[in-house]
Amino acid sequence: MRYRSVSAPMKLVLLGTGGYYPTPHRQTACVMLPEIGVVLDAGTGMYRLGDYLQTDHLDIFLTHAHLDHIAGLTYLINILPPEVLAQTTIHGEAAKLNAVQDHLFADAIFPVAPTFKFKPLDGPRALHPTGRLTYFPLAHPGGSIGFRLDWPDRSLAYVTDTTATTNSPYADAIRGVDLLLHEAYFADDSQNMAAKTGHSALSAVALLASEVQPRQLVLVHLDPVRDIDAEVQLMKQVFPNMCLAKDGEEFEF
Ligand SMILES: [Zn+2]
Ligand SMILES: [Zn+2]
Repeated sequence: MRYRSVSAPMKLVLLGTGGYYPTPHRQTACVMLPEIGVVLDAGTGMYRLGDYLQTDHLDIFLTHAHLDHIAGLTYLINILPPEVLAQTTIHGEAAKLNAVQDHLFADAIFPVAPTFKFKPLDGPRALHPTGRLTYFPLAHPGGSIGFRLDWPDRSLAYVTDTTATTNSPYADAIRGVDLLLHEAYFADDSQNMAAKTGHSALSAVALLASEVQPRQLVLVHLDPVRDIDAEVQLMKQVFPNMCLAKDGEEFEF
């Protein structure tokens, strides 16, 4: 049995659980740890961030710069008080941050220049109070990265926009985390599309989870139109402790 500390659990809020484009039920990728001011990805779910803001600063980590992961950066000027905006930093691979600055915030695309900072990732980042964020490469058109966040008594991994396989190169990086957020954009009748578009089919994610044994698996970056709830129930034979994410859902870990 894995050791669990008696310290208070940390809260995680799913601000957006869809991929590609938003629907009334799913905004696109955005995950928040409100107590420490950390946000993973900046999709359209970002518009909900103001409801959960608890810190005077924010650190937003981008997996990559596809639109469904960055559109919400243009909302921040309206969502955040100026003093928080001045203490907000966007972290990501240098090439992705350059693309955001050159294109998303070009005059022709968005009228207001960002006042938050951009800081290329150049190694692990410290997390409040005694944690560490590390990242690892994912196979996806244009490239993406996954994140692992560790504290002495808890851990979290966020893996989206990649094709899961058994023996995935990143399996060791996510092994044994308490909470694994992993994309599952496609049902299993679309395995070819999953490989072609750099996304994951549900059964491959379930098999990977059975290999790396997170305490809990939450499926994110879901198809905006197709409901895979029945498929998820079947796949619980492969990995029992998994669920489909819902926008607004909160987890403690
Ligand atoms: Zn995406
Ligand atoms: Zn992508």
